Amino acid sequence: MTLQIYNSLSRAKETFVPLHPGRVTMYVCGPTVYDDAHLGHGKTYVNFDIVVRYLRYLGYDVLYVQNITDVGHLLDSGQDRMLKGAQREHVHPMQLAEEYTYRYFRDMDRLNVGRPSISPRASGHIPEMIAWVQQLLASGHAYEVNGSVYFDVRSFEGYGKLSGRRTDEAMSGTRVQVLDEKRDAADFALWKRADPEHIMRWPSPWGEGFPGWHIECTVMATKYLGQPFDIHGGGLDNKFPHHECEIAQAEAATGHPFARYWLHNGMLMISGEEMHKSAGNFVTLAQALDEWEPLVIRTFILQGHYRNPLDLTHEALLAAQKGWGRLMDVVRLVRHRLPTAPAGDVSSDLAARLEEARRAFEASMDDDLNSAGALAAMFDLTRDVNTLLNASAPLSQTDLQAIDALYGRLLGDVLGIMPATLEVEAHVGLSDGLIRLLVDTRSSLRQARQWAAADAIRDGLQALGVQLKDGPDGTTWTVQ
Ligand SMILES: [Zn+2]
Repeated sequence: MTLQIYNSLSRAKETFVPLHPGRVTMYVCGPTVYDDAHLGHGKTYVNFDIVVRYLRYLGYDVLYVQNITDVGHLLDSGQDRMLKGAQREHVHPMQLAEEYTYRYFRDMDRLNVGRPSISPRASGHIPEMIAWVQQLLASGHAYEVNGSVYFDVRSFEGYGKLSGRRTDEAMSGTRVQVLDEKRDAADFALWKRADPEHIMRWPSPWGEGFPGWHIECTVMATKYLGQPFDIHGGGLDNKFPHHECEIAQAEAATGHPFARYWLHNGMLMISGEEMHKSAGNFVTLAQALDEWEPLVIRTFILQGHYRNPLDLTHEALLAAQKGWGRLMDVVRLVRHRLPTAPAGDVSSDLAARLEEARRAFEASMDDDLNSAGALAAMFDLTRDVNTLLNASAPLSQTDLQAIDALYGRLLGDVLGIMPATLEVEAHVGLSDGLIRLLVDTRSSLRQARQWAAADAIRDGLQALGVQLKDGPDGTTWTVQ
């Protein structure tokens, strides 16, 4: 099977075929660095990290661009988020941008989100944005009013093709003064005149001002990836107006299509509610990462489909912790057994089982990057591997190496939920050895027909979560 992805633009699953064989160009809207990243950012960037990792697993050379917004992203009140943050902390906006860019990457590193190939900053691309706005003015797709430049939505027929919308209902809250300047309520700012107190300002052909938010993504995506490029990703909340505006600016100016596949990820909910500072359920990513093992949070995110909303509850995180622990335990046990395992080839049964797991994993990932299905395939495999590890016939070194390699590739490289170094703690080997000792003791007791003592061992182990199973080849066990 080949990779199928849901394209928001066509509203259908499509076979993914990159523009250039073997290469994928991908852009994802990055953070506005005026405050700490929250759990919702964690979901978004883990979701797109999986896209990149899986494409690389499939052998593609992926050029991944994710911008840093450090100017022009306004609040509904019309205030620039960067200036709001700078006032809050009494620092220069660029100092604020530096601090929160650092914190963003620190948090993403902890979540094992790979760094983008290029992280361009909006404030470093003002001349390119001005040139793009000039091109839109020259081609009749924009107009200037009092030092601000607006995109003329009616001049571009394709406006609305991504979202099916043309106007923003939330615009009723927009400042009247701005509405007065626009020819149509749906028109949006490409360049804004700076009021005297506005700190972030650059000279332009229209006087001192600053760029609108949407133009930065169009300009930086096409600068580094060309036009068209393969994949544009972002949160569902950015589909309209942000992504619609990106398309309009790009395609109106050049006449070429912008992005070929649009991917949107669903939002994170907290116990069934949207996360808002005002709702009192706002959790920064750093707080969550201090409270929980980061790779458990990552596993929790991957247990949902990226396009769906994900509801975070304490119980769901506990379940993810248990599942993640089970996966890591089997890898630890395999690595613990490796040095003392007998030599030998991979058994054909094991090779077939590993191949089946790999196929099931890939089939899920090929189906619109269904990480939940991929994880389920690994849980299935883990159950069988545990049975094999606890069977009386020991696995050979080659067997164990084959298991370890598959886990490393799928859980490590693709899903990113395996730590770079997984310490084989002494207690893993100890508990494994103790269970084996008790199982052997029980077998001796049974041979001596001391049923009560043998059953006491079985029941005692069961109370500790160790389930024994007697079979023709001896006793095996599973650990809950
Ligand atoms: Zn964007």
